[in-house]
Amino acid sequence: MSDEAGRLAAFRPPRSAYIHVPFCRQRCEYCDFTLVVGREGLVQRYLAALERQLASLRTPVEVETLFLGGGTPSHLQAGDLAQLLSLLRHWFRVAPGGELSVEANPLDLLDDARVRVLVDAGVNRISLGAQSFVDSELTLLGRDHREEDIARAVEQVRGGIPNLSLDLIFGVPGQTLGTWRRNLERALELQPRHLSTYGLTIEKGTRFYSLRNAGRLSAAPEELEAQMYELAMDLLPARGLLQYELSNFAEPGWDCRHNHTYWAGQTYHGFGPGAARYLQGTREVGHRSTTTWLKRIESGEDPIGFRETLSAEDRAREAVILGLRRVPGINRSEIQHDHGWDLDELGRETWSQLKTRGLVETTSTGYRLTRMGRLLADSVTVELVGSE
Ligand code: SF4
Repeated sequence: MSDEAGRLAAFRPPRSAYIHVPFCRQRCEYCDFTLVVGREGLVQRYLAALERQLASLRTPVEVETLFLGGGTPSHLQAGDLAQLLSLLRHWFRVAPGGELSVEANPLDLLDDARVRVLVDAGVNRISLGAQSFVDSELTLLGRDHREEDIARAVEQVRGGIPNLSLDLIFGVPGQTLGTWRRNLERALELQPRHLSTYGLTIEKGTRFYSLRNAGRLSAAPEELEAQMYELAMDLLPARGLLQYELSNFAEPGWDCRHNHTYWAGQTYHGFGPGAARYLQGTREVGHRSTTTWLKRIESGEDPIGFRETLSAEDRAREAVILGLRRVPGINRSEIQHDHGWDLDELGRETWSQLKTRGLVETTSTGYRLTRMGRLLADSVTVELVGSE
């Protein structure tokens, strides 16, 4: 590799790792993630396969962030969870001050043994899938917890794990601006350091998709969904959780560091079925079928289900699109230094068109989305991708 290539972000040694844990108690009505339900008998095979996949690292590595997502990592029984975390702590040394984050569901955290395992392993951030504080919404979404479980789960981890993040979904069918406000207020009462709000998308292959096609479910009107997003953008910063990315709000200094890796176009490790990794300008994703991923590893085959190598221009363009998700926007000199590309060359006349329409504005260092641009971020992305 030339010195020039070695300087670029896509070729630097990764400082982050993502581990996919594909087990859930039930499949929620809107979920199309890589996971299995009712297959707890596969957990030991999964752990053995993960160990084999991790051995490809050859030597343990230091990372700034280690993120366990899913599926539901907390669904593992305490003993299995301890085994998983011990395996990961062997291969990944989390740097001092680093982030060890685990996604969890409220009911799992009511189990003292699981919480003790997480605390003892040094987990310092929990991303809790609260999703809603309205029981009828939780039922519709197919979640297995109730409003009261969320506060109890928060109490369980409050003493031992300093960084608590809550996930909320807006645009749930039947949700009103009033019930969305109630969700935000209830979440704020629990004083999380971090809050993520996601607009519901109805993906192909989910039960919601079938119900909608059969005329038995109506998605929230776009205008209402936009009002809900605006309410979050107004209410949360006024209460101390500043918006730092399209879907993410945090107290100052409590951003999700792991996700910044993605938004900055940096490299990262990924292990497990459906897990993405980005190394040397190539993106690879583990096979999305958990059983196929398992069988491939067990028989010594390649468990990767998708692989693409990005051109220098694609890498830079992707960094611009991901970087625009961050509220401060993109920095011209960082794009030049980290990705070797000039910002205006990438966007050409698209930047001026987006500015004219009030979707993007110039900053002292580059560009950022306006408030209206955040509401229409998907179409900004489409235009930037199309400006090749
Ligand atoms: S708990 Fe999360 S990962 Fe599991 S089915 Fe529900 S939304 Fe999907």
